[in-house]
Amino acid sequence: MIVRKSPEEIELMARAGRVVARLHEVLRDAIRPGISTLDLDEIAEREVRSHDAVPSFKGYRGFPATLCTSVNQQIVHGIPAHDVVLREGDLIKIDAGAIVGGYHGDSAVTWIVGGPDTVAPDVRGLVERTRAGLWAGLCAAAPGRRLSDISAAVEAHALPHGYGVVREYVGHGIGRALHEDPHVPNYGRPGRGPKLVPGLVLAVEPMFNLGTADTEVLDDDWTVVTADGQLSSHWEHTVAITNDGPWVLTARDDEPAWPLREAERVPGGTVDVREAG
Ligand code: MG
Ligand code: MG
Repeated sequence: MIVRKSPEEIELMARAGRVVARLHEVLRDAIRPGISTLDLDEIAEREVRSHDAVPSFKGYRGFPATLCTSVNQQIVHGIPAHDVVLREGDLIKIDAGAIVGGYHGDSAVTWIVGGPDTVAPDVRGLVERTRAGLWAGLCAAAPGRRLSDISAAVEAHALPHGYGVVREYVGHGIGRALHEDPHVPNYGRPGRGPKLVPGLVLAVEPMFNLGTADTEVLDDDWTVVTADGQLSSHWEHTVAITNDGPWVLTARDDEPAWPLREAERVPGGTVDVREAG
């Protein structure tokens, strides 16, 4: 069942979204070679609780941490640990959620430890195109369109490059529960599925791999990795469909909250927002 949110509920979700955005801004500045993923988790939990918010993931189905931290061939759901120490050229994927007033925000990033110049162009391209795919999907989250328009817009950024588009883990509705209906796949033909109406709030989260789309789960029962050991990128934002277009509730300080109005700030630069709007 798809739950539509009132404007008041979306305002609350925007508060949760701002906590998640702030958390990612703080971590972005903290990431450097030599820091452990457990260090990042401690920073993150302190930051979330300083806003009187609650981490979404900690305790969710028994997950032990505030963040999911997934390095290199790990796709999602990695568990922070003191002996996972970041090195220059690593891809660190950080997924985080926070609850404010009973409502969740959910957002994920892929940072290149030491900066983009520390990796080969194909790795940089994977990260940038996954992020561009996310923003294409967010721009498609406009009233009057259909759910699979988001999916197709995301996938269009993977297909020309032969990336594996992860199918076992997809985006989702979000609200009082972290995961609500509908599923938001990162692949598929446009023009299908439920109509996008104001009040719908979705987490859009493409995962593109340099190699196969196939995944495996490690013995910790959480960490999802690429089946062929190749690198993966993951980006995610929570977006509300409003009468004024998509409102990216988890947008950070270097991103537009209203991408259709601020096309020049949309990461990736290849998003045709006129078509999307
Ligand atoms: Mg997430
Ligand atoms: Mg999510």
